[in-house]
Amino acid sequence: MRRLALHWKILIGMLLGAIFGTFMLQFDAGKGLVTDWIKPFGTIFINSLKLIAIPLILASLIKGVSDLKDVAKLSKMGGRTVLLYMITTVTAVTIGLLIVNVIQPGHIVSEKAQTDLVEAYADEAASKQQIAEEQKTDGPLQALVDIVPSNIFDAATNNANMLQIIFFSIFFGIGIILIPEKKAKPIKDFFDATNEVVLKMIDLIMLAAPYGVFALLATLIVDAPSPDLFSALGLYSICVLLGLSIMILFYISLVRFYTGKSPRFFINGILPAQLLAFSTSSSAATLPVTMERVQEHLGVEEEVSSFVLPIGTTINMDGTSLYQGIAAIFIAQSFGLQLDLAAQLSIIATATLASIGAAAVPSAGMVMLIIVLGQAGIPEAGLALIFAVDRPLDMCRTVVNVTGDAAVSMIVAKSTGKLKKPAEKKWDDNYKKT
Ligand code: ASP
Repeated sequence: MRRLALHWKILIGMLLGAIFGTFMLQFDAGKGLVTDWIKPFGTIFINSLKLIAIPLILASLIKGVSDLKDVAKLSKMGGRTVLLYMITTVTAVTIGLLIVNVIQPGHIVSEKAQTDLVEAYADEAASKQQIAEEQKTDGPLQALVDIVPSNIFDAATNNANMLQIIFFSIFFGIGIILIPEKKAKPIKDFFDATNEVVLKMIDLIMLAAPYGVFALLATLIVDAPSPDLFSALGLYSICVLLGLSIMILFYISLVRFYTGKSPRFFINGILPAQLLAFSTSSSAATLPVTMERVQEHLGVEEEVSSFVLPIGTTINMDGTSLYQGIAAIFIAQSFGLQLDLAAQLSIIATATLASIGAAAVPSAGMVMLIIVLGQAGIPEAGLALIFAVDRPLDMCRTVVNVTGDAAVSMIVAKSTGKLKKPAEKKWDDNYKKT
Protein backbone atom coordinates (compact mmCIF):
# COMPACT_ATOMS: atom_id res chain seq x y z
CA MET A 1 0.00 0.00 0.00
CA ARG A 2 2.89 2.34 0.86
CA ARG A 3 3.94 3.24 -2.67
CA LEU A 4 0.46 3.62 -4.14
CA ALA A 5 -0.77 7.15 -4.85
CA LEU A 6 -3.37 8.41 -2.41
CA HIS A 7 -6.27 8.25 -4.84
CA TRP A 8 -5.60 4.57 -5.49
CA LYS A 9 -5.56 3.83 -1.79
CA ILE A 10 -8.87 5.64 -1.35
CA LEU A 11 -10.38 3.87 -4.35
CA ILE A 12 -9.30 0.47 -3.04
CA GLY A 13 -10.77 1.39 0.37
CA MET A 14 -14.08 2.32 -1.28
CA LEU A 15 -14.23 -0.86 -3.33
CA LEU A 16 -13.38 -3.12 -0.42
CA GLY A 17 -15.96 -1.28 1.71
CA ALA A 18 -18.67 -1.85 -0.90
CA ILE A 19 -17.72 -5.52 -1.26
CA PHE A 20 -17.62 -5.99 2.50
CA GLY A 21 -21.03 -4.31 2.93
CA THR A 22 -22.57 -6.55 0.24
CA PHE A 23 -21.00 -9.61 1.84
CA MET A 24 -22.32 -8.72 5.30
CA LEU A 25 -25.83 -8.29 3.90
CA GLN A 26 -25.87 -12.03 3.22
CA PHE A 27 -26.09 -12.71 6.97
CA ASP A 28 -28.98 -11.89 9.27
CA ALA A 29 -26.74 -10.24 11.80
CA GLY A 30 -24.55 -8.58 9.12
CA LYS A 31 -26.28 -5.22 9.05
CA GLY A 32 -26.19 -4.89 12.84
CA LEU A 33 -22.52 -5.83 12.96
CA VAL A 34 -21.60 -3.19 10.38
CA THR A 35 -23.69 -0.55 12.14
CA ASP A 36 -22.18 -1.33 15.54
CA TRP A 37 -18.57 -2.01 14.64
CA ILE A 38 -17.76 -0.39 11.30
CA LYS A 39 -19.99 2.68 11.02
CA PRO A 40 -18.39 4.45 14.03
CA PHE A 41 -15.04 4.55 12.22
CA GLY A 42 -16.65 6.30 9.27
CA THR A 43 -18.24 8.78 11.64
CA ILE A 44 -14.91 9.40 13.38
CA PHE A 45 -13.27 10.03 10.02
CA ILE A 46 -15.91 12.55 8.90
CA ASN A 47 -15.86 14.22 12.31
CA SER A 48 -12.10 14.64 12.17
CA LEU A 49 -12.42 16.37 8.79
CA LYS A 50 -15.22 18.61 10.03
CA LEU A 51 -13.23 19.34 13.17
CA ILE A 52 -10.63 21.26 11.24
CA ALA A 53 -12.99 23.05 8.83
CA ILE A 54 -13.49 26.14 11.03
CA PRO A 55 -9.85 26.53 12.15
CA LEU A 56 -8.82 26.04 8.51
CA ILE A 57 -11.15 28.73 7.18
CA LEU A 58 -10.19 31.16 9.95
CA ALA A 59 -6.44 30.69 9.58
CA SER A 60 -6.18 30.42 5.82
CA LEU A 61 -8.69 33.12 4.94
CA ILE A 62 -7.30 35.66 7.40
CA LYS A 63 -3.80 34.93 6.13
CA GLY A 64 -4.97 34.95 2.49
CA VAL A 65 -6.81 38.28 2.75
CA SER A 66 -4.08 40.01 4.74
CA ASP A 67 -1.49 38.87 2.18
CA LEU A 68 -3.41 40.77 -0.51
CA LYS A 69 -2.03 44.01 0.90
CA ASP A 70 -4.77 46.21 -0.52
CA VAL A 71 -8.55 46.10 -0.46
CA ALA A 72 -8.90 46.82 -4.21
CA LYS A 73 -7.22 43.47 -4.99
CA LEU A 74 -9.68 41.75 -2.72
CA SER A 75 -12.75 43.25 -4.35
CA LYS A 76 -11.37 42.42 -7.81
CA MET A 77 -10.90 38.80 -6.83
CA GLY A 78 -14.26 38.71 -5.03
CA GLY A 79 -16.09 40.08 -8.07
CA ARG A 80 -14.55 37.53 -10.43
CA THR A 81 -15.20 34.67 -8.04
CA VAL A 82 -18.88 35.42 -7.56
CA LEU A 83 -19.42 36.06 -11.28
CA LEU A 84 -17.81 32.75 -12.24
CA TYR A 85 -19.79 30.90 -9.59
CA MET A 86 -23.01 32.37 -10.92
CA ILE A 87 -22.19 31.51 -14.53
CA THR A 88 -21.33 27.89 -13.73
CA THR A 89 -24.44 27.43 -11.59
CA VAL A 90 -26.83 28.81 -14.20
CA THR A 91 -25.10 26.67 -16.85
CA ALA A 92 -25.63 23.61 -14.66
CA VAL A 93 -29.38 24.12 -14.14
CA THR A 94 -29.84 24.88 -17.82
CA ILE A 95 -28.05 21.66 -18.82
CA GLY A 96 -30.23 19.77 -16.33
CA LEU A 97 -33.44 21.24 -17.75
CA LEU A 98 -32.42 20.47 -21.34
CA ILE A 99 -31.68 16.84 -20.48
CA VAL A 100 -34.87 16.25 -18.50
CA ASN A 101 -37.03 17.84 -21.20
CA VAL A 102 -35.46 15.76 -23.96
CA ILE A 103 -35.37 12.40 -22.15
CA GLN A 104 -38.59 12.92 -20.13
CA PRO A 105 -37.91 10.30 -17.44
CA GLY A 106 -41.11 11.17 -15.52
CA HIS A 107 -43.35 9.85 -18.25
CA ILE A 108 -42.29 6.24 -17.82
CA VAL A 109 -42.81 5.86 -14.07
CA SER A 110 -45.67 3.37 -13.72
CA GLU A 111 -48.57 4.21 -11.45
CA LYS A 112 -47.69 1.27 -9.24
CA ALA A 113 -44.07 2.37 -8.84
CA GLN A 114 -45.30 5.87 -8.08
CA THR A 115 -47.64 4.68 -5.32
CA ASP A 116 -44.98 2.35 -3.87
CA LEU A 117 -42.38 5.11 -3.77
CA VAL A 118 -44.69 7.69 -2.27
CA GLU A 119 -45.86 5.22 0.38
CA ALA A 120 -42.36 4.03 1.23
CA TYR A 121 -40.88 7.47 1.69
CA ALA A 122 -43.82 9.59 2.85
CA ASP A 123 -42.42 9.97 6.38
CA GLU A 124 -38.91 10.93 5.32
CA ALA A 125 -40.31 13.40 2.80
CA ALA A 126 -42.52 14.94 5.49
CA SER A 127 -39.55 15.49 7.80
CA LYS A 128 -37.57 17.26 5.06
CA GLN A 129 -40.67 19.30 4.27
CA GLN A 130 -40.78 20.46 7.86
CA ILE A 131 -37.16 21.66 7.76
CA ALA A 132 -37.85 23.50 4.51
CA GLU A 133 -41.03 24.99 5.98
CA GLU A 134 -39.00 26.57 8.78
CA GLN A 135 -36.66 28.15 6.24
CA LYS A 136 -39.57 29.43 4.16
CA THR A 137 -41.05 31.47 7.00
CA ASP A 138 -37.96 33.71 7.01
CA GLY A 139 -38.15 37.11 5.27
CA PRO A 140 -36.51 37.68 1.87
CA LEU A 141 -33.38 39.30 3.34
CA GLN A 142 -32.87 36.71 6.05
CA ALA A 143 -30.04 35.05 4.07
CA LEU A 144 -28.16 38.35 4.19
CA VAL A 145 -28.80 38.84 7.91
CA ASP A 146 -27.54 35.31 8.56
CA ILE A 147 -24.13 36.13 7.11
CA VAL A 148 -23.27 38.59 9.87
CA PRO A 149 -22.80 36.88 13.23
CA SER A 150 -23.50 38.76 16.44
CA ASN A 151 -20.88 36.76 18.29
CA ILE A 152 -17.89 35.14 16.63
CA PHE A 153 -17.38 32.50 19.33
CA ASP A 154 -21.00 31.53 19.06
CA ALA A 155 -20.71 31.32 15.27
CA ALA A 156 -17.59 29.16 15.53
CA THR A 157 -19.42 26.54 17.56
CA ASN A 158 -21.46 25.35 14.59
CA ASN A 159 -20.08 24.15 11.25
CA ALA A 160 -23.34 25.20 9.61
CA ASN A 161 -22.29 28.82 10.20
CA MET A 162 -19.52 28.67 7.65
CA LEU A 163 -20.62 31.85 5.86
CA GLN A 164 -20.45 33.73 9.15
CA ILE A 165 -16.91 32.53 9.75
CA ILE A 166 -16.00 33.54 6.19
CA PHE A 167 -17.48 36.99 6.77
CA PHE A 168 -15.55 37.45 10.02
CA SER A 169 -12.28 36.20 8.51
CA ILE A 170 -12.50 38.54 5.51
CA PHE A 171 -13.40 41.46 7.78
CA PHE A 172 -10.54 40.63 10.16
CA GLY A 173 -8.13 40.27 7.21
CA ILE A 174 -9.18 43.70 5.91
CA GLY A 175 -8.47 45.10 9.39
CA ILE A 176 -4.95 43.67 9.22
CA ILE A 177 -4.38 45.20 5.75
CA LEU A 178 -5.40 48.61 7.04
CA ILE A 179 -3.08 48.81 10.06
CA PRO A 180 0.66 49.62 9.83
CA GLU A 181 2.71 46.68 8.60
CA LYS A 182 4.91 46.54 11.69
CA LYS A 183 1.93 46.17 13.97
CA ALA A 184 0.26 43.63 11.68
CA LYS A 185 3.29 41.33 11.53
CA PRO A 186 2.79 39.34 14.77
CA ILE A 187 -0.84 38.56 14.05
CA LYS A 188 -0.05 37.61 10.45
CA ASP A 189 2.74 35.33 11.64
CA PHE A 190 0.35 33.76 14.11
CA PHE A 191 -2.25 32.90 11.47
CA ASP A 192 0.46 31.84 9.04
CA ALA A 193 1.79 29.32 11.55
CA THR A 194 -1.72 28.17 12.52
CA ASN A 195 -2.42 27.57 8.88
CA GLU A 196 0.68 25.39 8.53
CA VAL A 197 -0.34 23.37 11.58
CA VAL A 198 -3.85 22.82 10.23
CA LEU A 199 -2.50 21.70 6.87
CA LYS A 200 -0.26 19.22 8.65
CA MET A 201 -3.30 17.94 10.56
CA ILE A 202 -5.01 17.32 7.23
CA ASP A 203 -2.02 15.26 6.10
CA LEU A 204 -2.36 13.16 9.20
CA ILE A 205 -6.11 12.69 8.80
CA MET A 206 -5.64 11.66 5.19
CA LEU A 207 -3.44 8.77 6.32
CA ALA A 208 -6.68 7.29 7.62
CA ALA A 209 -8.71 8.13 4.50
CA PRO A 210 -8.62 4.65 2.89
CA TYR A 211 -9.94 3.11 6.12
CA GLY A 212 -12.45 5.91 6.66
CA VAL A 213 -13.98 5.49 3.21
CA PHE A 214 -14.03 1.71 3.69
CA ALA A 215 -16.26 2.21 6.74
CA LEU A 216 -18.44 4.82 4.99
CA LEU A 217 -19.07 2.67 1.92
CA ALA A 218 -19.74 -0.53 3.91
CA THR A 219 -22.33 1.40 5.96
CA LEU A 220 -23.95 2.90 2.88
CA ILE A 221 -24.40 -0.52 1.29
CA VAL A 222 -26.07 -2.07 4.35
CA ASP A 223 -28.38 0.96 4.71
CA ALA A 224 -29.38 1.08 1.01
CA PRO A 225 -33.07 0.70 0.09
CA SER A 226 -34.47 -2.27 -1.82
CA PRO A 227 -33.25 -2.62 -5.44
CA ASP A 228 -36.85 -2.68 -6.83
CA LEU A 229 -37.54 0.90 -5.84
CA PHE A 230 -34.17 1.76 -7.21
CA SER A 231 -34.90 0.48 -10.70
CA ALA A 232 -38.12 2.49 -11.08
CA LEU A 233 -35.95 5.56 -10.88
CA GLY A 234 -33.32 4.32 -13.30
CA LEU A 235 -33.97 6.78 -16.12
CA TYR A 236 -34.23 9.73 -13.74
CA SER A 237 -30.88 8.74 -12.21
CA ILE A 238 -29.35 8.39 -15.67
CA CYS A 239 -30.47 11.95 -16.49
CA VAL A 240 -28.83 13.31 -13.34
CA LEU A 241 -25.64 11.31 -13.93
CA LEU A 242 -25.51 12.41 -17.56
CA GLY A 243 -25.86 16.05 -16.55
CA LEU A 244 -23.19 15.70 -13.86
CA SER A 245 -20.80 14.08 -16.35
CA ILE A 246 -21.37 16.94 -18.79
CA MET A 247 -20.52 19.38 -15.98
CA ILE A 248 -17.22 17.59 -15.34
CA LEU A 249 -16.40 17.86 -19.06
CA PHE A 250 -17.41 21.52 -18.92
CA TYR A 251 -14.94 22.20 -16.07
CA ILE A 252 -12.17 20.29 -17.78
CA SER A 253 -12.72 22.36 -20.94
CA LEU A 254 -12.88 25.63 -18.98
CA VAL A 255 -9.62 24.82 -17.21
CA ARG A 256 -7.99 23.79 -20.48
CA PHE A 257 -9.18 26.92 -22.25
CA TYR A 258 -8.35 29.48 -19.58
CA THR A 259 -5.28 28.02 -17.94
CA GLY A 260 -3.89 25.70 -20.64
CA LYS A 261 -3.67 22.85 -18.10
CA SER A 262 -4.42 19.38 -19.45
CA PRO A 263 -7.45 17.34 -18.33
CA ARG A 264 -5.06 14.76 -16.90
CA PHE A 265 -3.29 17.34 -14.78
CA PHE A 266 -6.58 18.70 -13.47
CA ILE A 267 -8.19 15.35 -12.70
CA ASN A 268 -5.03 13.86 -11.16
CA GLY A 269 -4.73 16.89 -8.94
CA ILE A 270 -8.31 16.92 -7.71
CA LEU A 271 -9.13 13.19 -7.68
CA PRO A 272 -8.57 12.46 -3.97
CA ALA A 273 -10.91 15.34 -3.09
CA GLN A 274 -13.49 13.99 -5.56
CA LEU A 275 -13.29 10.52 -4.04
CA LEU A 276 -13.73 11.97 -0.59
CA ALA A 277 -16.68 14.08 -1.75
CA PHE A 278 -18.22 10.89 -3.13
CA SER A 279 -17.68 8.96 0.11
CA THR A 280 -18.80 11.69 2.51
CA SER A 281 -21.52 13.46 0.44
CA SER A 282 -20.36 16.68 2.01
CA SER A 283 -18.40 19.48 0.36
CA ALA A 284 -17.81 20.99 3.80
CA ALA A 285 -16.16 17.83 5.11
CA THR A 286 -14.10 17.66 1.90
CA LEU A 287 -12.98 21.31 2.04
CA PRO A 288 -9.70 20.73 3.90
CA VAL A 289 -8.60 18.20 1.29
CA THR A 290 -9.84 20.32 -1.63
CA MET A 291 -7.70 23.20 -0.30
CA GLU A 292 -4.63 21.06 0.03
CA ARG A 293 -5.01 19.51 -3.44
CA VAL A 294 -5.71 22.81 -5.19
CA GLN A 295 -2.74 24.51 -3.55
CA GLU A 296 -0.17 21.78 -3.75
CA HIS A 297 -1.18 19.89 -6.85
CA LEU A 298 -2.99 22.37 -9.09
CA GLY A 299 -0.66 25.28 -8.39
CA VAL A 300 -3.24 27.78 -7.11
CA GLU A 301 -1.58 30.21 -4.71
CA GLU A 302 -2.93 30.19 -1.21
CA GLU A 303 -4.00 33.81 -1.48
CA VAL A 304 -6.60 32.71 -4.04
CA SER A 305 -7.52 29.22 -2.84
CA SER A 306 -8.09 30.33 0.74
CA PHE A 307 -10.60 32.89 -0.51
CA VAL A 308 -12.28 31.15 -3.43
CA LEU A 309 -12.71 27.64 -2.00
CA PRO A 310 -14.45 28.28 1.36
CA ILE A 311 -16.85 30.65 -0.38
CA GLY A 312 -17.42 28.12 -3.18
CA THR A 313 -18.09 25.34 -0.70
CA THR A 314 -21.01 27.28 0.71
CA ILE A 315 -22.41 29.10 -2.32
CA ASN A 316 -21.30 27.25 -5.45
CA MET A 317 -23.13 23.97 -5.85
CA ASP A 318 -23.47 23.25 -9.53
CA GLY A 319 -24.19 19.56 -9.05
CA THR A 320 -26.94 20.43 -6.60
CA SER A 321 -28.57 23.03 -8.85
CA LEU A 322 -28.46 20.66 -11.84
CA TYR A 323 -30.07 17.93 -9.77
CA GLN A 324 -32.74 20.30 -8.47
CA GLY A 325 -33.69 21.30 -12.02
CA ILE A 326 -33.96 17.68 -13.17
CA ALA A 327 -35.75 16.49 -10.03
CA ALA A 328 -38.34 19.29 -10.16
CA ILE A 329 -39.29 18.57 -13.78
CA PHE A 330 -39.15 14.81 -13.21
CA ILE A 331 -41.65 15.10 -10.36
CA ALA A 332 -43.86 17.39 -12.43
CA GLN A 333 -43.76 14.90 -15.34
CA SER A 334 -44.60 11.97 -13.04
CA PHE A 335 -47.64 13.83 -11.73
CA GLY A 336 -48.71 14.65 -15.29
CA LEU A 337 -48.07 18.40 -14.97
CA GLN A 338 -46.98 20.43 -18.00
CA LEU A 339 -44.60 23.28 -17.19
CA ASP A 340 -44.41 26.09 -19.73
CA LEU A 341 -41.24 27.99 -20.65
CA ALA A 342 -41.86 30.73 -18.08
CA ALA A 343 -42.21 28.16 -15.29
CA GLN A 344 -39.02 26.43 -16.42
CA LEU A 345 -37.12 29.71 -16.53
CA SER A 346 -38.25 30.47 -13.02
CA ILE A 347 -36.86 27.06 -11.99
CA ILE A 348 -33.45 28.21 -13.27
CA ALA A 349 -33.65 31.19 -10.94
CA THR A 350 -34.96 29.35 -7.88
CA ALA A 351 -32.62 26.37 -8.29
CA THR A 352 -29.67 28.77 -8.55
CA LEU A 353 -30.72 30.52 -5.34
CA ALA A 354 -31.63 27.27 -3.62
CA SER A 355 -28.21 25.77 -4.36
CA ILE A 356 -26.54 28.90 -2.98
CA GLY A 357 -28.62 28.53 0.17
CA ALA A 358 -28.02 24.79 0.53
CA ALA A 359 -25.61 23.78 3.28
CA ALA A 360 -22.58 21.76 2.20
CA VAL A 361 -23.77 18.61 3.97
CA PRO A 362 -25.50 15.39 2.91
CA SER A 363 -29.09 15.79 1.61
CA ALA A 364 -29.07 19.59 1.89
CA GLY A 365 -29.91 19.85 -1.80
CA MET A 366 -33.06 17.83 -1.24
CA VAL A 367 -34.31 20.12 1.52
CA MET A 368 -33.83 23.13 -0.72
CA LEU A 369 -35.52 21.30 -3.59
CA ILE A 370 -38.78 21.65 -1.65
CA ILE A 371 -38.50 25.41 -2.05
CA VAL A 372 -37.98 25.02 -5.81
CA LEU A 373 -41.02 22.74 -6.01
CA GLY A 374 -43.15 25.14 -3.97
CA GLN A 375 -42.24 28.11 -6.19
CA ALA A 376 -43.05 26.20 -9.36
CA GLY A 377 -46.36 24.86 -8.03
CA ILE A 378 -45.20 21.22 -8.17
CA PRO A 379 -46.62 18.95 -5.41
CA GLU A 380 -44.06 18.78 -2.59
CA ALA A 381 -45.18 15.26 -1.74
CA GLY A 382 -43.36 14.32 -4.95
CA LEU A 383 -40.18 14.42 -2.91
CA ALA A 384 -41.01 10.92 -1.71
CA LEU A 385 -40.71 9.80 -5.33
CA ILE A 386 -37.01 10.49 -5.56
CA PHE A 387 -35.97 9.59 -2.03
CA ALA A 388 -34.79 6.06 -2.79
CA VAL A 389 -31.98 7.20 -5.05
CA ASP A 390 -31.13 10.46 -3.35
CA ARG A 391 -28.08 9.29 -1.43
CA PRO A 392 -26.15 7.86 -4.40
CA LEU A 393 -27.04 10.92 -6.46
CA ASP A 394 -26.00 13.15 -3.55
CA MET A 395 -22.61 11.43 -3.56
CA CYS A 396 -22.22 12.17 -7.28
CA ARG A 397 -23.47 15.76 -7.16
CA THR A 398 -21.08 16.51 -4.28
CA VAL A 399 -18.20 15.42 -6.57
CA VAL A 400 -19.37 18.01 -9.11
CA ASN A 401 -19.77 20.70 -6.42
CA VAL A 402 -16.18 20.20 -5.30
CA THR A 403 -14.79 19.98 -8.86
CA GLY A 404 -16.57 23.22 -9.80
CA ASP A 405 -14.95 25.06 -6.88
CA ALA A 406 -11.51 23.76 -7.85
CA ALA A 407 -11.97 24.73 -11.52
CA VAL A 408 -13.10 28.27 -10.63
CA SER A 409 -10.17 28.67 -8.23
CA MET A 410 -7.76 27.82 -11.06
CA ILE A 411 -9.40 30.32 -13.40
CA VAL A 412 -9.42 33.09 -10.78
CA ALA A 413 -5.78 32.29 -9.99
CA LYS A 414 -4.81 32.45 -13.64
CA SER A 415 -6.62 35.74 -14.17
CA THR A 416 -4.86 37.32 -11.19
CA GLY A 417 -1.41 35.91 -11.99
CA LYS A 418 -1.53 33.52 -9.03
CA LEU A 419 -1.39 30.19 -10.85
CA LYS A 420 2.02 28.63 -10.41
CA LYS A 421 3.67 25.39 -11.31
CA PRO A 422 2.72 23.14 -8.39
CA ALA A 423 5.44 22.23 -5.97
CA GLU A 424 6.84 18.75 -6.48
CA LYS A 425 5.62 17.80 -3.02
CA LYS A 426 3.27 14.81 -3.00
CA TRP A 427 1.02 13.45 -0.30
CA ASP A 428 3.28 10.52 0.22
CA ASP A 429 6.27 12.81 0.65
CA ASN A 430 4.31 14.64 3.31
CA TYR A 431 3.71 11.42 5.14
CA LYS A 432 7.35 10.51 5.08
CA LYS A 433 8.14 13.79 6.75
CA THR A 434 5.54 13.29 9.48
N1 ASP B 1 -24.26 17.09 -0.34
C1 ASP B 1 -24.08 18.24 -1.17
C2 ASP B 1 -22.78 18.93 -0.80
O1 ASP B 1 -22.33 18.85 0.31
C3 ASP B 1 -25.21 19.20 -1.10
C4 ASP B 1 -26.45 18.54 -1.65
O2 ASP B 1 -27.19 17.88 -0.92
O3 ASP B 1 -26.67 18.65 -2.87
O4 ASP B 1 -22.19 19.59 -1.63
